Amino acid sequence: MNYRASIPDCKAVTGTNGTEGIKWYKPIGNSVPGMVVCEACHEDDVLCNPFAPKFQREQGQGPTDIWACDLALRYINNELKFKGRAGDWDGFTRQASARLAIPACPGQGTAAATSRKWFTPTIGSYAANGILICHGCYCDHVLHSGEEAKWQDVGASVGSRFGSTLRCTMGQFNVNVALGMAQEAGDLSIFWKSLEGASREKFCDAKGIKDGKWFTLPSSPDGFAVCGACCATVLEPLDLMKFVLPNRAKLRGGTILCSINPAAPRFLIYAKHLVEAHLRQDISSLEKLTVELTNIPACRRDEDFTNGVWYGWPDCAICPECHHTFTRGTALERSMPLKGVRIADSNLCQMYSPRMRALYMAACAKNPPDPSELLVYADHRSTVYVQTVMRIRQMLMESQLMLGQQSMLNTSSSFYLSMGQIQEISMPSACTYGMAGVGYGFANQNSLQGAIYGQQAMAVGQQAANPSRTLLVGELERQWRAVE
Ligand SMILES: [Zn+2]
Ligand SMILES: [Zn+2]
Ligand SMILES: [Zn+2]
Ligand SMILES: [Zn+2]
Repeated sequence: MNYRASIPDCKAVTGTNGTEGIKWYKPIGNSVPGMVVCEACHEDDVLCNPFAPKFQREQGQGPTDIWACDLALRYINNELKFKGRAGDWDGFTRQASARLAIPACPGQGTAAATSRKWFTPTIGSYAANGILICHGCYCDHVLHSGEEAKWQDVGASVGSRFGSTLRCTMGQFNVNVALGMAQEAGDLSIFWKSLEGASREKFCDAKGIKDGKWFTLPSSPDGFAVCGACCATVLEPLDLMKFVLPNRAKLRGGTILCSINPAAPRFLIYAKHLVEAHLRQDISSLEKLTVELTNIPACRRDEDFTNGVWYGWPDCAICPECHHTFTRGTALERSMPLKGVRIADSNLCQMYSPRMRALYMAACAKNPPDPSELLVYADHRSTVYVQTVMRIRQMLMESQLMLGQQSMLNTSSSFYLSMGQIQEISMPSACTYGMAGVGYGFANQNSLQGAIYGQQAMAVGQQAANPSRTLLVGELERQWRAVE
């Protein structure tokens, strides 16, 4: 028990890089290629399994390699349990390899219909409402659940029935909360009840919802609204519906982003307080926070801006939101030279990222508290920011200009082409028009001009979507994420 408390918890799909010092294990002799297990899961699930001797240390992680623990996949974890009990090692390696070959759930994003199998409920009208789950989620959450009969493979017609890009319902944050609560309680009816409620509401879109149903806290703080779907999938299973009220007055018309959508700026803060409210069955700390935050601008994260109000140090600026929700009341607060100072120059918040927060906590824990290491790292981070994010932004701006130019050329092209067609019908000409590099045989000058614009649009488009440009942006982003 003492040793287990010293091991970092499993980071599951998020993964960890080599600098975080996680110990890894793998099945012996490469029997499941690519599979790794973090030390926490090794202690919790492998050591008590008959297959424990079949796992060995894996030390090949480089400092920048990001590894995700595969035992966090429920299917593999279940297979380890069942096949372990049956003593069927070959069966385990076969099933684990098959699961690892299935593409990861697209989560909040979308995936091509052809990229994997998709499943839909056999019961109710879910299929008609477009409720689908990806192959990975089917393995992890349906197989071994006793509910296999409630789901069916949509088959090859999935693209024609549901569209070419699809969303996995179980990959959405809100449905995932309902699923997690149901699994923890061992009662999947909680999940089905939530899904039914959510399927009657508008999808909680990262771009916001128009004319949705909204709920708020009793004091109705500005800027806090939970959509109907999130009520059914998050507040209901967390037993928090009794604390919220329908918000009819303020939110009519316009597009509103749900406060607990992962794309919402304060999603993480609210999610943390929702968990607390659930555990204590008391919503007052969330209510107090939402009221306090109404007058504080949301953290702009990795976007620098001028004329902001800052806390912290000149080399490690902290925005009012991060100060209010994280650094306020900590050991280093008194020694901060900046306390709500407006600075005209462009600056960047350093305290939204988990890495910087960990460094800050370590600085506070020193005796006496000492920010010097934090400040050195923040300075390095700012340098990398200028070299990477600023450059990406410049390149995106150029690409956007090019794409804007392309769409203008495309519009001009179709305008001239249709003019040409009308002219050809109404005033046919005896001769044809042409130009080197564009082609010959055009009925009139307008048709030729249309073709010229069309060709220019294609050239500009190719330049903007140049693969080497995309590669460079990817590499710059990787460098930034490594220090972010
Ligand atoms: Zn793990
Ligand atoms: Zn999924
Ligand atoms: Zn929502
Ligand atoms: Zn911030």
